[in-house]
Amino acid sequence: MIPYGRQEITEEDVEAVVAVLRSDFLTQGPMVPRFEQAIADYCGGGHAVAVNSATSALHIACQALGLGPGDWLWTSPITFVASANCALYCGAQVDFVDIDPRTYNLCPRALEHKLIEAKPAGRLPKVVVPVHLCGQPCDMAAIHRLSREYGFRIIEDASHAIGGRYQGEPIGNCRYSDITVFSFHPVKIITTAEGGMALTQDAGLAHKMALLRSHGITRDPAQMTHEADGPWYYQQIELGFNYRMTELQAALGVSQMARLDDYVARRHQLAKRYDALLADLPVTRPWQHPDSYSGLHLYVVRLQLDQIGRPHRQVFESLREQGIGVNLHYIPVHTQPYYQRMGFKAGDYAEAERYYAEAISLPMYQTMTHAQQDAVVAALASALAPIR
Ligand SMILES: *Cc1c(COP(=O)(O)O)cnc(C)c1O
Repeated sequence: MIPYGRQEITEEDVEAVVAVLRSDFLTQGPMVPRFEQAIADYCGGGHAVAVNSATSALHIACQALGLGPGDWLWTSPITFVASANCALYCGAQVDFVDIDPRTYNLCPRALEHKLIEAKPAGRLPKVVVPVHLCGQPCDMAAIHRLSREYGFRIIEDASHAIGGRYQGEPIGNCRYSDITVFSFHPVKIITTAEGGMALTQDAGLAHKMALLRSHGITRDPAQMTHEADGPWYYQQIELGFNYRMTELQAALGVSQMARLDDYVARRHQLAKRYDALLADLPVTRPWQHPDSYSGLHLYVVRLQLDQIGRPHRQVFESLREQGIGVNLHYIPVHTQPYYQRMGFKAGDYAEAERYYAEAISLPMYQTMTHAQQDAVVAALASALAPIR
């Protein structure tokens, strides 16, 4: 089976992790700050808080921004459930904004329309989470403009987008957001097995997230409400969690970082090759905004079903039967039974649902060979061949 995504682990990566195993610190040592600094430097400065997953990063980002009961978080329906669930962890409510039919990202015009409607109803969001689907950045300048006008905060879910650029600048610099979140799950662009990171230019938010990552406990006398009892003393000043990244994970992350630019370049090469090989098939290839450089976590095609004469599911199953590990990113979150119980229903977000009815993620990863890619294209051509 050719998987839709997979990690590359080099001998250097193995040695970096083994060195940590032989060291004094398996957690809370020097590697996590090193990894944080490497990512912050890569993204053009700011503060980085490493955690055990992007899901945790989204949670503490929401909490640091003060999201709570009575508040709303808006995101795209075409995302992994974590982009929405983070609001529920905080006792807040979720709503969705339909996607742009060209980029499949949260549509700024749909956002504006919804904000205009929400304002008189007193239902404006506190936080909006744009998701850079497949690594292609959202129209952050437009979303940022709206945030000024309507007073919401922005968390970029950049789980797909590390190594990409928006208007020539690295994603993660938070020029148009309060916080940006990366994921290091093995299918993502670089990996720490499990892991995530929250970036911000705001020292106060960084401090708050660092506190929430580790039980809300401080050893800094300046932050305590009363004097330390003695040298052993720590004080819990918030209700936090244990969302810490281990030293093993951070060492793997530092080691992988060295290859990030090569990985994204390789993905662009493969995407360009897919673009050429798929040109004559009845599929819509991904559109890339000229103003951005995608991290290209995913290569999604949309089936032109009116020309294919068989259902989406049948094409998908045929690919799987031919050993091609295609996937579908994503099932619209509002159609999940858990969300339907909150009153969402099929039909609520037409563009998202149209996308879901046609989309297939083709395999793409940094170590993919041209022969593997040719096999994917041949299988797709066969799955789409006219029925005789
Ligand atoms: C993978 C992913 C997440 C969750 O990342 P984890 O590190 O697995 O918690 C969140 N949002 C999006 C868009 C993702 O793709």
